[in-house]
Amino acid sequence: MAKGLVRFNEERCKGCELCVSVCPVKIIALHETKINSKGFRPACVLHADKCIGCANCALMCPDGAISVFMREEGGEADE
Ligand code: SF4
Ligand code: SF4
Repeated sequence: MAKGLVRFNEERCKGCELCVSVCPVKIIALHETKINSKGFRPACVLHADKCIGCANCALMCPDGAISVFMREEGGEADE
């Protein structure tokens, strides 16, 4: 089960792909079809079940568009 839960503020994202490049398990990508109001393809998580909760993505995002929440052992989170 995933150890972290990642949330993106898509309107803040400028599609710089820094988060994509620093994710150790390579589960972040820019959205294939979605475009935000600034005209960028926002980042999203492709395989939420593989997130290790390292928070590299949130630390690297220059626009503060990412929040990482740690899952509790045996918790009920469902993504
Ligand atoms: S918390 Fe770590 S593993 Fe999860 S998406 Fe961000 S960089 Fe990848
Ligand atoms: S680092 Fe932040 S601004 Fe850049 S693509 Fe990722 S979420 Fe978007």
